Amino acid sequence: MTTIRTLVWGEFRHEKKNPKVAKIYPDGMHETIAAFLRRDPSLKVSTACLDQNQHGLTAEVLDETDVLVWWGHMAHGEVADEVAERVRRRVLEGMGFIALHSAHYSKVFKGLMGTTCSLKWRESTDKERVWVIAPLHPIAAGLPSHFELPAEEMYSEPFGIPDPDELIFISWFTGGEVFRSGATWRRGNGRVFYFRPGHETYPSYHQAEVQRVITNAVHWVRATVRIPDSCPSTPALEPLPPDPDAEDRSSIAHT
Ligand code: ZN
Repeated sequence: MTTIRTLVWGEFRHEKKNPKVAKIYPDGMHETIAAFLRRDPSLKVSTACLDQNQHGLTAEVLDETDVLVWWGHMAHGEVADEVAERVRRRVLEGMGFIALHSAHYSKVFKGLMGTTCSLKWRESTDKERVWVIAPLHPIAAGLPSHFELPAEEMYSEPFGIPDPDELIFISWFTGGEVFRSGATWRRGNGRVFYFRPGHETYPSYHQAEVQRVITNAVHWVRATVRIPDSCPSTPALEPLPPDPDAEDRSSIAHT
């Protein structure tokens, strides 16, 4: 059995500031997510958070990570550009990346998407109905045709993302809006999955269907290759005709 080295990254700020959030997630949202992932024996799960040295995302840690799960909200701007770029490059090499809820506005996700990633939102009394529109997709394995979160923050289209490679979930909210709530992209050699639920004041990460989706997604985005970026000059595989400009060309620096 292949072990998938999974790192759950949490901002871990709301839990320290808001007693309501602390009550739902006493050890932090990242620890709740890590705890249900650990029930899967094929996952080796660790956690990291914003206030650690380099946000717990050193090159050494990323070297040992096949999948990074990311929850951030109030402190996207405190993530160092250098660290966000390190994570983005690691995804291009092959690491899987799962962006949860307000991670749509994280530096890493926006950097991978290259678009605004903006949306409309509302904190009110909406419920969310998540429709499975790609039931054959491995991320939807074991799910019913739809499931409901009794209370959630509303996110609405237009969602400023590039067209997904695959759209797996669409959410409907009590107020009438819809949102592309589960989508995948390939970026370089890495796979990216965005999943919408998980506002900090609701117990969404305790809900079985949400746990199923995230667990399935870890398997689906897992790194299968690691190909560091390079742009080398390369010798021909077959003999080439004589090159009359070889001397001139050798004096030009290529990058
Ligand atoms: Zn939220």
